[in-house]
Order: sequence, then C-alpha cells, then structure tokens
Amino acid sequence: MKLTILGNNGAYPRANGACSGYLLENDQTKVIMDLGAGTLSNLMSIDDASDLDGILLSHLHWDHISDLFVLQYLLEKRDQVVPVYLPESPENIYKMIADIKSFDVHPIHNGDEVTIKNMTFIFKQMRHPVEDYAIKAVDEKGKACLYTGDTGICDALTDFVEGVHTMLCDCTYVDNPDENKHLSAGQAAEIAEKAGVRHLILTHFNPELNPRDYAIVAERILRRGRVTKSEIMLTFNI
Ligand SMILES: [Zn+2]
Ligand SMILES: [Zn+2]
Repeated sequence: MKLTILGNNGAYPRANGACSGYLLENDQTKVIMDLGAGTLSNLMSIDDASDLDGILLSHLHWDHISDLFVLQYLLEKRDQVVPVYLPESPENIYKMIADIKSFDVHPIHNGDEVTIKNMTFIFKQMRHPVEDYAIKAVDEKGKACLYTGDTGICDALTDFVEGVHTMLCDCTYVDNPDENKHLSAGQAAEIAEKAGVRHLILTHFNPELNPRDYAIVAERILRRGRVTKSEIMLTFNI
C-alpha cells in the first residue's frame, strides 16, 4: 500500500496548507480517505481522479469533506460516478452529498467491512461530536493501515489499533487534549506504543502550531515504533 498526504491541518488550513485528505492505493485499488479544504488541488498535482475506486469519509465535518463539493463539477464534466462511503449523520449534510449525481453513496455503520477490489476497509465508530469512524485498510497480505478520523480517547480506538502496522492519527493537541473531540500527540503515542504500532504518522495539526512540537512529544513515548509528522505530498510505503 502507498499512502500520500494531501492535507494535514484540522479545522482550517495554514497558508499554502490543506485540511485532512489522504490517498491510499496499491496495484489495483485507489481510494481517498477524507477530502478537506485544499486537498483536491494537491491530488490534481499527482492524479487526475479519473480512476478513483472510492471516497471514504470518516465524518461530515467541513475540514474533512469540503473539496467534495467542487470535485463534483469535474466528475459531472466527465460523466464519472464515484462511490462515496460515509456516515448518515448529520442528516442535512448527508443529504447534500447524497443528492449529488456524481456520487454513488453507501452509508457506513459501526463494524461495517467493505471490500473494494483487493483492499478491505473496516469502520469503527470513534468519540467525536458527530458520527465518526476510524478506517482500517487491510491488503491481501494482511498488512493494515488505520486512519483514526477525528477522535477523543476511547476504548474503541485502543482495541481497533491492535495488530496495525501504520497508524495515521489525529493529534490536534500537543498536550491538554479535549477528551470528547481529539487526541493529543502524547495520547496518540501512548496508544501506538501499547498496541505495538510500527509507524505512527501524526496529522490534523492545529494550523497555528509547529508540527515539530507534536513529534517531539510523541517520540519521547513511542519506543517500539517510529514517529513521522505528516507533510503535504509526503508518501509512505506500508
Ligand atoms: Zn477535523
Ligand atoms: Zn471533526
């Protein structure tokens, strides 16, 4: 599997930045997980989106979905329809997306497993003010990459991360997390260390803070694996 970071800010992008969005692909399957503000432009610099197998949305906050609404114009122009996997709430936002003809919508629920070509995606509900899912992508060899979406600390996440090779993790806070909404870098590293994660990729940074500060905290805690701060257009082989 190859993971490319299309954006790494939470809430709004820093100058020349972008919010959450990640391209995940292997020899057969190509999906995007979240498509926040600024990510479509970054995608277009490497991929014209003509053979996307799906768009998987962790939750329906704008910093994770806003570029969907401009992607529709490109898809319309090509008569292209892309499957979109997403939570059914908030209902008004779900309906806005479901009404777009270029999107073939598939509602997701806690524990759902979806196979797209030679990748399987498992969805587990996390702790956030709106319905929100972590997404675990598993390839044919059983290698797993988990994207947390946005989440506060919860047992569902600590259980879900067991056996995962790479964890792409919300760490909005360097420290002092808001338990109901987001993790801190320290919490992300503690979860990764306990589960034996080999590679922790930090993301969803506050645009006002320096990503290096997050990595310093996480590196002190994660002993058994390595820590990387996500950067736009950085790619990882998993
Ligand atoms: Zn967010
Ligand atoms: Zn959110």
